[in-house]
Amino acid sequence: VNQPPAVRQDAIRRHNLALVLRQIHVDGALTRAELTQRSGLSRSTIGTLVAELSDRDLLSESVPTGGSGVGRPSHVVGPRPDSPYVVAVDIDVTRVVIAAVGIGGLVQSRHVSAAPTGPVTPEGVAGQIADALPSLQAAIDDDARPVGLGVSVPGVVERFTGRVPFAPNLGWHDVPLQQLIQAAVPHLPVSVGNDADLAVLSEHVWGSARGFEDVVYLLGRIGVGAGILTDGRPLRGAGGLAGEVGHTVLDPAGPPCHCGSRGCVETFVGDAALLRLTHGEGSVQDILRAADQGEPAAMAAVEVLAEALGRTAANIVNLLNPQLIVFGGSLRTVLTRAQAHVEAALDGPALSGAREMVELRPCLLGEDGPLLGAAQLAFGPLLTDPLGALDALSHEMAGP
Ligand SMILES: [Zn+2]
Repeated sequence: VNQPPAVRQDAIRRHNLALVLRQIHVDGALTRAELTQRSGLSRSTIGTLVAELSDRDLLSESVPTGGSGVGRPSHVVGPRPDSPYVVAVDIDVTRVVIAAVGIGGLVQSRHVSAAPTGPVTPEGVAGQIADALPSLQAAIDDDARPVGLGVSVPGVVERFTGRVPFAPNLGWHDVPLQQLIQAAVPHLPVSVGNDADLAVLSEHVWGSARGFEDVVYLLGRIGVGAGILTDGRPLRGAGGLAGEVGHTVLDPAGPPCHCGSRGCVETFVGDAALLRLTHGEGSVQDILRAADQGEPAAMAAVEVLAEALGRTAANIVNLLNPQLIVFGGSLRTVLTRAQAHVEAALDGPALSGAREMVELRPCLLGEDGPLLGAAQLAFGPLLTDPLGALDALSHEMAGP
């Protein structure tokens, strides 16, 4: 209350700079008039803020030529080719994707490495990331520079340390992942998150979950995980370990799970279930493609999976009362091909009030959900305080 006015003014200015940058990040290029309307700030304030963000190379402003409108055309504000970008990494069991992602979530360049010999190791990933940075940079504007690095991992991630206590499908135990990658890429702030936790963030900003505040994203890859938003905020739990829907138990007498338990959700709706149901004929991708084409044996397997998925969704509905469940990875195909089966299995056990409120949707960002969520994680500081983040980075790069 007794803060000197100058400090308060500076805090408001920084808050509003972040507001304008976030608006462009979420909505893409906008006219000054649209920015004014959506931010609730005055025209002249918007003018000043946009000028300051342009000075720092964060945005550009252009006057559209041509057009048939009456009166002065409104300036268009958007990201520019030399705007700062982030490096996003999506680690999966069979491949690692490393990408340069710009403001607005645009993937500017991408490096995909299949795990050539044997499994993905933490040290291997750290090395791959460091090796990929020059080629990512070479593919984009010379003056663009990275401001952060976000990593998606299919495992449990500790919230404050970026340690991975357990990534069953990678065979990782107690890996200091953030620390390892930070050592390989010392000039960029590194943050690490769980794949489903990150996918729900990107779907919320750019995908099917836009405008929804209570969302569960179910991601099926080899494992099955959930990213949860309640009241627009991530639900993480005390240590960041919440959302392991894949290891809730559907049937204690069911098949053994990687985690050491039996009959986990993952053993009924994950890739292993699909392979079991089709007696190992073809890869998961082959089976999903066949189901997309309506091939009967693949469809039969998908429908069995859909029932288990519906029962899983019922547990989620009763526990969390979401407005929306988004289905990603292999579960996207299960929903789009067998939604009636999912809904029928959901109807029985779900309590009616919560059942009526929930909508089921396929993800919109496809395989890039976790990657774009990792980008969103890395953009966090810039979108919270653009000038502060740029200043911190230039100090860090200048060294002690
Ligand atoms: Zn399990």
